[in-house]
Amino acid sequence: MAVTPWGPDFDALARQDPELAGIILSEAERVSSGLQLIAAENFTSPAVLAALASPLANKYAEGYPGARHHGGCEVVDIAERVAIDRAKALFGAEHANVQPHSGSSAVLAAYAALLRPGDTVLAMALPHGGHLTHGSRSNFSGRWFDFIGYGVDPATGLIDYDEVRGLAHAHRPKAIVCGSISYPRHLDYAAFRAIADEVGAYLIADAAHPMGLVAGKAAPNPVPYADVVCATTHKVLRGPRGGMLLCGAELAERIDRAVFPFTQGGAQMHSVAAKAVAFGEAAAPAFTAYAQRVVANGRALADALAEEGPTVVTGGTDTHIITADVSPLGLDAPTARARCAAAGIVLDICALASATEPGGCVKGLRLGSAAVTTQGMGEDEMARIAALLGIALCEEETAPRMRGVRAEVRELTAGFPPYPA
Ligand SMILES: *Cc1c(COP(=O)(O)O)cnc(C)c1O
Repeated sequence: MAVTPWGPDFDALARQDPELAGIILSEAERVSSGLQLIAAENFTSPAVLAALASPLANKYAEGYPGARHHGGCEVVDIAERVAIDRAKALFGAEHANVQPHSGSSAVLAAYAALLRPGDTVLAMALPHGGHLTHGSRSNFSGRWFDFIGYGVDPATGLIDYDEVRGLAHAHRPKAIVCGSISYPRHLDYAAFRAIADEVGAYLIADAAHPMGLVAGKAAPNPVPYADVVCATTHKVLRGPRGGMLLCGAELAERIDRAVFPFTQGGAQMHSVAAKAVAFGEAAAPAFTAYAQRVVANGRALADALAEEGPTVVTGGTDTHIITADVSPLGLDAPTARARCAAAGIVLDICALASATEPGGCVKGLRLGSAAVTTQGMGEDEMARIAALLGIALCEEETAPRMRGVRAEVRELTAGFPPYPA
């Protein structure tokens, strides 16, 4: 049984439950033998995994440091205070709540703090890059609030801030949400703030994707502009799966009460501790260099991919996110994704605005550079990945040439193990 560099007791798991140990090792093999281009994924450090696998996982800690409903919280209180202080320092925020179990839970709590059911909210339309929590009918957001969607210009792929302003004035929302699952460019938070002020709306930044770039000073910080910033800790930020909220002192109590007891129960203290570890890592100079490499790799991958035929939306990226329309290759997005998967290249499908498709949107591919950058890949590897994508996109899944691409992907990734032994 291979020894993994994370849980100290993995061998004990393997002895006790070989079935689950085998599944975990298969997943480790899957991610290290293929190219992980899912924009929302990353590889945490062994230190973050060690905190997640620690006995803090056992602790019940409803409430906040110094005001818990459970006894025995004196040690985890310190962990949560460290996490809060590190988050505040990292992002320059007056207040941080590190308890949300996920990005969606953070958004739910932000709405709970600022809105009442039935309020009008202006957010990016889902077919243009909004998240489920931005008004999907299959999500609480679309059921409990009246969402108005702004979009991107189908010709440029860019947000039209005049359209956002026009919709804000026409609908007078209680809150404006800025943030997206697929927008590859920096947001103009000052423009969103100005529009929110014109109509007396709260500004909620859902910075789940770029917050790691913000930590590494490679993207603008929404904290000075937004009333509340929602984020995940597991995307570019490279921490454990989870969420976080940042706000000014005047909203601190409302935000905290909206997380617990309004929308969540006990905090997951192993995750809170792992967030603290990740914030500590993100404050180090090495993380600034990492964030810059993520963006450089994103740009290199976008440029090289455009040479292979797909239309890269907005012509490139400012971040780790690249979206591409594969219809110029005569492909639909599910076929394209399946061909990439056959080559061992894992990526997502997303909705893209389109001027020509009925309904105004088309499915495309979404790629990200965060995970491969953590593995140590650079711009040369991005060029190689784009070339492999170019071949894979043009081959049937079962074509003999696809086996060659799969072998090349294995060879490339073998040089960049996510968890070197
Ligand atoms: C990822 C993401 C979320 C949700 O995060 P989960 O942890 O999956 O709940 C919310 N909003 C945006 C913009 C995201 O990118």
